[in-house]
Amino acid sequence: MPAIRILDDEVVAKIRAGEVIDRPAAVAKELIENALDAGSRLIAVQTASSPERSIRIQDDGHGMSREDALLSVRRHATSKLERAEDLAAMRTLGFRGEALASIAEVSRLALSTRSADDLSGSQIEVLGGTVISVSGIGRAVGTTVAVEDLFFNTPARLRFLRSRESESRVLSRVVWSYALVTPRVHWRFKVDGREDTDLPATEDLLERWQVFYGRGAVEGAAPFEGAAAGIRLRGILGPPEMARASREHQVFAVNGRVFSSPTIGAALRQGYGNLIPGDRHPVALILIEIDPAQVDVNVHPTKREVRFRDESALFQATRRAVEQAMKRYVPVALGVGGEGAAPEEGAPTRGPGAAPGLPGSAGTLAPSQLLWDGIAAARTLYAPPEEGTGSDTAREVEVGDVRESLAEPEIPIWQLHDRYLLAPIRGGLVIVDQHAAHERILYEEARIHLFGEAGVSQSLLFPRVLEVSAQELDTLLMLEPHARRIGYDISIFGDRQVAIRGVPASLPEDIAIEALKRLLCGDDGHADVDASEPPEERIAKTYACHAAVRSGQALDPEERRALFDRLFATSLPHGDPHGRPTYVRVAMEELDRRFGRR
Ligand code: ADP
Ligand code: MG
Repeated sequence: MPAIRILDDEVVAKIRAGEVIDRPAAVAKELIENALDAGSRLIAVQTASSPERSIRIQDDGHGMSREDALLSVRRHATSKLERAEDLAAMRTLGFRGEALASIAEVSRLALSTRSADDLSGSQIEVLGGTVISVSGIGRAVGTTVAVEDLFFNTPARLRFLRSRESESRVLSRVVWSYALVTPRVHWRFKVDGREDTDLPATEDLLERWQVFYGRGAVEGAAPFEGAAAGIRLRGILGPPEMARASREHQVFAVNGRVFSSPTIGAALRQGYGNLIPGDRHPVALILIEIDPAQVDVNVHPTKREVRFRDESALFQATRRAVEQAMKRYVPVALGVGGEGAAPEEGAPTRGPGAAPGLPGSAGTLAPSQLLWDGIAAARTLYAPPEEGTGSDTAREVEVGDVRESLAEPEIPIWQLHDRYLLAPIRGGLVIVDQHAAHERILYEEARIHLFGEAGVSQSLLFPRVLEVSAQELDTLLMLEPHARRIGYDISIFGDRQVAIRGVPASLPEDIAIEALKRLLCGDDGHADVDASEPPEERIAKTYACHAAVRSGQALDPEERRALFDRLFATSLPHGDPHGRPTYVRVAMEELDRRFGRR
């Protein structure tokens, strides 16, 4: 028997599908590129929180006839390329005609479409590469592709996926890269049926950029343009202080195709020179227009990288354009009358080399100093509960008892009517009010972040966009630096729109956003919040009140335990920020007395 065998078609098809479609983000990329090739003005992306379970992309492009729709899911079926010569002048993002077929091969795919010439649309369902149904459907002109259960028939590939968070993140990066590159397209995103993110079309690249990077950054962001050797460049360069630890926020596109390029990355970095430390990467959007004959996009299975005929011309053109744009950051009188030495190689951006008066410049306090003062300030400022529940020493003994009992990992914590948590402790029973307790925890955390170390922010997959009133906008301007310390990442764009890009990592997304909305509309939740209090105080209280778990919410055993641990680790566990008790201790003696044992 010969050692070499010809693989059967089914195996070959799966291997090839895997070259193009290796993870959910690849599905999104291919479907988005198809939607853009179809001339869409509106693209709506919807995914499940585990994106391999469901990705749905709807467009208002030119759509397909039924015949074309059936062809589109077959391999090497494309409307974009006829002859090999055409490859040299490809203007479309797709041309190989294998994406839809590859996706269909490894998923359940439903495609519905209607072209302008047809009065009704068609719907096709494909299961693991086999068309299982074709039917008529009423719909608007355009195409919707829904991909479910990706890799259901290739378990090895399914096992290779990373966590749903990281797959979602990679996918969202594909989507927002294209959203950045195509400001004239109206985009909508939705994850798991949550609130829509809606990015209306705009002529202005900078306006689209604001959604992702904020207006605060816009004063410093530099739109730039350049042209050399048949290469046209334009884009937005983030200010030096916006530089990040990773290259994630560098988006490059050539003739509308998002791609990655070490050449452009290096030119960009060099263009920033020593305005940023050696280990940081600028935030940038660079759009390149070039004669398609000068690029070969057919070198990579997913076209993620492309080859330029004259790579060094591209490098020079990019570096020069970036350098030119960076001139605005170079201080006019570097070193004149200064304290001496020029900034060392790799010195922080905020050194003497940075331009004066840039927005967002931090104070001069060293971070550790700031942290120390902050914590000390926070400690002395914590409001003691108004109503005493015993003398200070008695309280300390009580808290000591609870902490000691909590050292026991196995103590049961019961929940009563979704409102109180009960736990046996040494010498009795402790009853915690879940809402008040959580308020105390969040209040102290907020204070620590407001005065000391900033809170950790969890960035959202897509920015959540809110419309705000003029008054809310005012509040936001006042609030923003404080909210940022707690972990919110907010940017204002357009007339009255706010994009929330990150929320405090310790809270569920929806709750964090709700709390922010309450802060904006000035609903402090309690009459006792006094307008004469410093803003930090009001913010900490309002945030704590709205972000805390409600009474009436069921908590699972881990959540109960976490609430106990965190409450009794606070500096003043016995009262919420409004002075109401957070817990009540019932002593054994008290119970014994009531049962007539004593
Ligand atoms: P390619 O994009 O390389 O041509 P695909 O497999 O991605 O290959 O798509 C096959 C064909 O299906 C395309 O050439 C196009 O004619 C058609 N098609 C795919 N998606 C869409 C869409 N969203 N709108 C209109 N036509 C589409
Ligand atoms: Mg395609």
